[in-house]
Amino acid sequence: MSIRAFSLPLCAVLLAVALPCAATSGKQPDQPATRDSVSVGTPMSGSLVHGEVLPVKGSGYRLMQTTRDRKARFGTTELTRLVQRSAHEVRRRIPGSLLMVGDLSGRKGGPTDHHGSHQSGRDVDFAFYMVDRGGKPVATEVFMPFDANGYSVEPPMEYRFDTARNWALVRALLESEAALVQWIFVADHLRALLLEHGAASKAPGPVLGKARQVLRQPGKKGHWDHFHVRSYCPAGDLPRCRDVGPRWAWTR
Ligand SMILES: [Zn+2]
Repeated sequence: MSIRAFSLPLCAVLLAVALPCAATSGKQPDQPATRDSVSVGTPMSGSLVHGEVLPVKGSGYRLMQTTRDRKARFGTTELTRLVQRSAHEVRRRIPGSLLMVGDLSGRKGGPTDHHGSHQSGRDVDFAFYMVDRGGKPVATEVFMPFDANGYSVEPPMEYRFDTARNWALVRALLESEAALVQWIFVADHLRALLLEHGAASKAPGPVLGKARQVLRQPGKKGHWDHFHVRSYCPAGDLPRCRDVGPRWAWTR
């Protein structure tokens, strides 16, 4: 999504507090007003300097209560923008969508009791979009596992993996210019549903190619109850920030 598309809501907010909207013209409205963040080290052993806090809610998303309780709401400027723009884009494509956002990093990053990674402001978890038996979208405060047919495992058969919205999220993440995505961790059987949907919906070839690379099941068990998105080091954070693993050709 372009910066321009995001400038309208911000403009509206500025108008609401009676500030001259025209005063923002000529500069990018969503540039950080203060110090830019720095991701330090790796996601598994790192920290975060001047981390940006993700607001509790925004267009198309809401932070999960556990994440608010843990204060795991901080990321790089680039990652928090990526979350906001991607959720907004899914809602634009499919009205009524609400992305439930889980943990990012703590204010200063570093190790936590809940994750092996999430240390340097470049990781974020998302609950899956899902629908109930009547096809109505459901927002969840817990991560819910789904089987290879797209049905919830616990509670059994109660909910369905909303493949169309989940694919729209994958696509938005890969098309956003806010941050470059290295991985979207998700279980193999859900990866298959997503890629199948992407191909059937005639998504652009480059997006499908990227999705095949970044959608990956970590380990044997994998993420069958949530997405875990990891972004590359922002260019300005090098060399203190260190990427681990492959560098996809389309990110160079
Ligand atoms: Zn995670």
